[in-house]
Amino acid sequence: MKNIILTGDRPTGRLHLGHYVGSLKERVKMQNEDDYESLFVMIADTQALTDNYGNPQKVRDNVIEVMLDYLSVGLEPDKTTFFIQSAVNALPELTTYYMNLVTLPRVLRNPTVKSEIKARGFDEEKEGIPVGFATYPISQASDITAFKANLVPVGDDQLPMIEQAKEIVKSFNTTYQEVLVTPKAVIPEEKVCSRLPGIDGNAKMSKSLGNCIYLADDTETVKKKIKSMYTDPLHINITDPGHIEGNTVFTYLDVFCKDEHFAKYLPEYHNLEELKNHYQKGGLGDVKIKNFLFAIIEELLTPFREKRAFYEQHLDEVLEILKEGSAKANQVANQTLLEVKEAMGITYFDDKNFLIEQNNKYTKI
Ligand code: ATP
Ligand code: MG
Repeated sequence: MKNIILTGDRPTGRLHLGHYVGSLKERVKMQNEDDYESLFVMIADTQALTDNYGNPQKVRDNVIEVMLDYLSVGLEPDKTTFFIQSAVNALPELTTYYMNLVTLPRVLRNPTVKSEIKARGFDEEKEGIPVGFATYPISQASDITAFKANLVPVGDDQLPMIEQAKEIVKSFNTTYQEVLVTPKAVIPEEKVCSRLPGIDGNAKMSKSLGNCIYLADDTETVKKKIKSMYTDPLHINITDPGHIEGNTVFTYLDVFCKDEHFAKYLPEYHNLEELKNHYQKGGLGDVKIKNFLFAIIEELLTPFREKRAFYEQHLDEVLEILKEGSAKANQVANQTLLEVKEAMGITYFDDKNFLIEQNNKYTKI
């Protein structure tokens, strides 16, 4: 069986290095393999509105920003279907039916939702949590199942969402008929990539936390951000022994640095092990390791910026890609919705048996 892949991002800001290593990189790889049938990439505006309902302009502005980021990293419209969540009507309809298969305590137990409630500052006692926000994992199950996706490349904060989707699939298929496909999360092999920390050392680089290096940041901005990065507070003088654990510069080097970068940018060392040993012994300053990281990140981002600059001048083309993708997404999702409704016995007008059954009740023998 060939793979059907669905992933997406919330248009709450531009995409950052965390998105790249956590999910985008894998998508580009999958797009270029031939063991997949289709790759759907969704801009999750409906989901973004669940906690940005008061700021629709932010969501509206970031739809194109996120799309530009996709194109900049090398996702290609002839290999990938890009679409906007709110443009696919079958999704909220599926959500309505799935809501009956999930209990309220189950929804509120979701650990990601719990931590996001805290991070977003919703006050449970005062104004309460919007129902749309608390139930967005159900809508995410609709996104995945509408396309019969079997693979979902995500960062590890999304694992509870995939669990919820699996439960809904199981419940639907046993309550009604085997229509839905059980999805599997694809998380990066390297643990650190499934949750890249922020430049401030916070556990997760996140648009909402303002601790990101964005894929579209210019050279000066990247330089400034790397210069300000969290390292080792105990490493005050160059001669002091430094710590690697929890040192964000080394965490990023673990993720982005390859041996060939040393030959190009830091020939005194052959590999990361040597650099780490020197840092731990003392005698290696933060400026040097930050400059090295900067050179590596620049090398990664330069081609992205060039592609982005092209599409920034061709926004009509970008919108057209989204329009065509959304039309294709509608076709696929409508077909699944039809199968779902048939399985539930609620396609009254196209179901020949419906009238026969009802007539039978009144037929006198
Ligand atoms: P927000 O703060 O608005 O929730 P976000 O930065 O968390 O934004 P999302 O759009 O919620 O970004 O996430 C999109 C995808 O990127 C998800 O699969 C998520 O797991 C992944 N992702 C986000 N941040 C990181 C990160 N720091 N490391 C690895 N993956 C990440
Ligand atoms: Mg998020």
